[in-house]
Amino acid sequence: MVAREISRQTFLRGAAGALAAGAFAGAGRANGEPVAAGWDGLSSAIAGQVIQPNAPQFGSAKAVFNTNYNGLTPAAVVTATSPADVQKAMAFAAANNLKVAPRGAGHSYVGASTANGTMVLDLRQLPGGVGYDAGTGLVTVPPATSLYAMHQVLAAAGRGIPTGTCPSVGAAGHALGGGLGAHSRHAGLMSDALRSATVVLPGGQAVTASADSQPDLFWALRGGGGGNFGATTSLTFATFPAGEVDAVNLNFPPQSFAQVLVGWQNWLRTADRSCWALADATVDPMGTHCRILATCPAGSGGRKAGCGWVSSRYSTIAIDWISVSPSISSAGTSPCGFTER
Ligand SMILES: Cc1cc2nc3c(=O)[nH]c(=O)nc-3n(C[C@H](O)[C@H](O)[C@H](O)COP(=O)(O)OP(=O)(O)OC[C@H]3O[C@@H](n4cnc5c(N)ncnc54)[C@H](O)[C@@H]3O)c2cc1C
Repeated sequence: MVAREISRQTFLRGAAGALAAGAFAGAGRANGEPVAAGWDGLSSAIAGQVIQPNAPQFGSAKAVFNTNYNGLTPAAVVTATSPADVQKAMAFAAANNLKVAPRGAGHSYVGASTANGTMVLDLRQLPGGVGYDAGTGLVTVPPATSLYAMHQVLAAAGRGIPTGTCPSVGAAGHALGGGLGAHSRHAGLMSDALRSATVVLPGGQAVTASADSQPDLFWALRGGGGGNFGATTSLTFATFPAGEVDAVNLNFPPQSFAQVLVGWQNWLRTADRSCWALADATVDPMGTHCRILATCPAGSGGRKAGCGWVSSRYSTIAIDWISVSPSISSAGTSPCGFTER
């Protein structure tokens, strides 16, 4: 049993080192393993598809959000349509010394759900929608469920979950690596909300990890990164009561960016935890500018005097922050409890 004195960060650093050394055959990130023989056997064993480089749909099957990685050539893309398919695919990979790149919604910035020579295990066709249980407040989803789909169901039930702001990011890739967003100042990361996960381990065994079952695996899943410990086929999260929020977008001239960043950091130290803001720089049809995108409970934002939050609360902040007047490009209410970009 691993002593609890070891911090999660220390453990994960060690795991990352082991992965870099190729110690976890089967479920590590891939970097050009030999192509396995016997794909036809896997193809006939699963209900999903095995799409090899000579198939006409290979190009679209291997495509990911970051198109910089679309030139890579996985050994095959396996589209699983059931947890049993995932088990068979993982067992096949282990037997053939193939590395596996599980794919949820494919939004990894660094292209982690594809690589040369790997078996891409595409989980987007796993069955089951967003299952919210009003009795427990828990929500269960298949791994590639988009954050938007989760928020839609939860918002209709008056519930929320901490996630980032991109609506098409997938739940598993997001939660297994952390998941930081507008609710994180009061509710933590999406990984903090994870209550259990069903994981197919290298070799094909399916286990359910929670605080009471496979606790070490559960501990590692909450921030250890996608794909490092197996293929997750289902995730269950806690939720919290949530209402509507006001969203305010403030734009500043680019030369103010340093001041905006310092002011934003200072504001975060003491601001009410129900409020949140990000700072970034962007180029859009308005030109080059830096931006604060903020959310706060409905009614404390744009409702008062048109942009009351901005004039009464935010301009105080803005003046404290940077002594540069922002222009307001939008202020409104997000019914989903988070803001789309
Ligand atoms: C436009 C954009 C905006 C973003 N905004 C935010 C934000 O606001 N906050 C934030 O915290 N992050 C944000 N991210 C980062 C995002 O959360 C991560 O890239 C996340 O890992 C994407 O998950 P995915 O399932 O969509 O991607 P994928 O590429 O499918 O997967 C990412 C990683 O997880 C693994 N993985 C995926 N599914 C599984 C599974 N079922 N089992 C095991 N491993 C799996 C993959 O192998 C890969 O290593 C953003 C990304 C983008 C592209």
